[in-house]
Amino acid sequence: MSDLRINSDRLWDSLMELAKIGATEKGGVKRLTLTDLDKQGRDLVTSWARDAGLSITIDQIGNVFMRRDGEDNTLPPIMTGSHIDTQPTGGKFDGNYGVLAGIEVVRTLNDRGIRTKAPIEVAFWTNEEGSRFVPVMMGSGVFCGAFTLEHAYAAKDTEGKTVGEELERIGYKGDQVPGQHPIGAYFETHIEQGPVLEDADKVIGVVPAVMGLSWYDCTVSGMEAHAGPTPMHLRKDAMQVAARIIPEVVAIANRYPPYGRGTVGMMQVFPNSRNVIPGQVKFSIDLRNVNDELLNKMHEEILAFVDKTSADTGLPIKIERVSYYPPCPFHPDCVGAVRKATEKLGYSTMDVVSGAGHDAIYAARVAPAGMIFVPCKDGISHNEIEDAKKEHLEAGCNVLLHAMLERAGVV
Ligand SMILES: [Zn+2]
Repeated sequence: MSDLRINSDRLWDSLMELAKIGATEKGGVKRLTLTDLDKQGRDLVTSWARDAGLSITIDQIGNVFMRRDGEDNTLPPIMTGSHIDTQPTGGKFDGNYGVLAGIEVVRTLNDRGIRTKAPIEVAFWTNEEGSRFVPVMMGSGVFCGAFTLEHAYAAKDTEGKTVGEELERIGYKGDQVPGQHPIGAYFETHIEQGPVLEDADKVIGVVPAVMGLSWYDCTVSGMEAHAGPTPMHLRKDAMQVAARIIPEVVAIANRYPPYGRGTVGMMQVFPNSRNVIPGQVKFSIDLRNVNDELLNKMHEEILAFVDKTSADTGLPIKIERVSYYPPCPFHPDCVGAVRKATEKLGYSTMDVVSGAGHDAIYAARVAPAGMIFVPCKDGISHNEIEDAKKEHLEAGCNVLLHAMLERAGVV
């Protein structure tokens, strides 16, 4: 078993083949969830699964489970998976790598005629990206009971189409009740989507935990007025007040190192005209930390700062938490299996806390879970120029193979 390796060319070719569906001019992929292109991607991956002898189950939120029987099929499967939907200007590897690495694990086991004690399953989860429909990580979220199927079905895109309708339309609304699907252990391989591994020149990131996240919508209300005739002391300038809060978001993150994160990434100015004093400014706040206690302190500090700023300026400011999930430590058995496989295979490695959300967070609520990171070029993802090295993808897939075998048991 110790000389068992995946087929790197085959993995790469599958990644490139899938990336043709929704390929963009700049070398990326646009395959939004539950579109015709997503259907084509789903059809291709499931056809590969059938060719590899896997049986397929689809649940009511469109999560797809591709199963290779074990010797004892009463055991819960050892599962790996990720997502094949992308951002509007996404790359070839985010999510897709985790799914196709799973397919490659199965193909390798088939090549060598290896039987496992527990079944092996490869999954892809619906709407991980959350770009077309909110919330993000929808399929895995429904699966673990983070929110209801009805809530997910009702989510609308900008054209008013719902998840329920679109699932039906592309033929991926299955029968299985989400969550009625036992998992013995869950592994997910993913590009790091950050620069840490590349910076440290390491090949495999063992992921002990994923950061928790708190999202806010913040609205400052002022008074629109002409930029010329209105003297400075008589203004209610929503932009200037918003501009006090924004640096504080970063300051809060910096007060809770090394994993504090603070970002204002979205802003809307009303009426957004150069000679009008802004009457209203809406912006997003994204706070993260790997420690829930610290994340809570960050939460309290931003609320307190917003209150104080409103009192100091006399302008009403509304801040509303719109999303939250706590930090997610992964299971010691799964983290241990990844670490052991990495050491056995001799890859350079370090621990990397994930700053991004993944389906594994929700899987971890219902089963022992762990993740494997590989470097991506310049740490760039959610971008058409997202890139990863073939040998790194190979290494991550080999680690996945050996970690899954350890948990599944070889007959
Ligand atoms: Zn992803």
